Amino acid sequence: MSKDIQVDSTSEFFRAREQEFGDNPIAVRESDHYAQEYVGGIVDKWDDLIDWPRRAEGEGRFFVDQLKARGAQRVLDAATGTGFHSVQLAEAGFDTVSADGSPQMLAKAFRNGLANGGHLLQLVHADWRTLKGDVHGEFDAVICLGNSFTHLFSEHDRRKALAEFYSVLKHDGVLILDQRNYDALLDGTSTGKSSYYYCGDEVDAVPDHVDEGLARYKYTFDDGGEYFLNMYPLRRDYVRGLLRDVGFQKIDTYGDFQEKAGDHAPDFYIHVAEKSYLAELAD
Ligand code: SAM
Repeated sequence: MSKDIQVDSTSEFFRAREQEFGDNPIAVRESDHYAQEYVGGIVDKWDDLIDWPRRAEGEGRFFVDQLKARGAQRVLDAATGTGFHSVQLAEAGFDTVSADGSPQMLAKAFRNGLANGGHLLQLVHADWRTLKGDVHGEFDAVICLGNSFTHLFSEHDRRKALAEFYSVLKHDGVLILDQRNYDALLDGTSTGKSSYYYCGDEVDAVPDHVDEGLARYKYTFDDGGEYFLNMYPLRRDYVRGLLRDVGFQKIDTYGDFQEKAGDHAPDFYIHVAEKSYLAELAD
């Protein structure tokens, strides 16, 4: 790569905008709003929030092993964010395409790729609901991780996004999609205060408002910076049902990277959805 290419997410262009929720933040329940949430300060801070070494330790080889067990080579990271999984996969030798709907997150991912092993990430600016307009070719696997799918607020959008993921997969491809355990939050069996497995020490993440249609989280950083994300609280079995409806044949759901949840309700669920046709499922 030429040394004079610079991607600086702290530049005026990226700094000009900050999060905007208007006068009534809990009324903001729109799938398009993510583009106004991953801007400015939270993009700069995101890697303090997710603490890469701690996250790598928490996840271990889970995703790499899932992908290798299926012989995956070409992987689409559909929610690249700042590039954590794209870099992990590049390090593990996968041919990875890194997509996201936020240009600011992609710019940070690009810099992180270079800084962590000199990887020149293949970036695509794409919204999941119109993915095939921007992402070309077929993939052995699609990953959508870090509680990203929660940003879609209507069932119509969720079904369309999953249909797009399904259609870029080869006939025997796999989708790996995770979500926070919102059942525990909605049912009052968890405060939702993070033992969020990938949180850094310099951030406090707490639910600011929760109802059946919104989980609004507040992230407070050591330096006093405060940011919010408005998310749709997905129930685990609802997501499994959607995956089945769009055509995935076999869906295994793991709790915090374990096949069986232990005594504690998991922080996260990870759905591993396979496309390969299973004749025995026919009526
Ligand atoms: N996967 C990364 C991680 O684990 O650190 C990023 C997770 S971040 C919570 C969610 C990402 O999903 C953001 O980068 C956001 O821009 C992206 N995103 C949300 N809705 C999207 C959509 N409809 N299309 C494309 N990207 C979207």
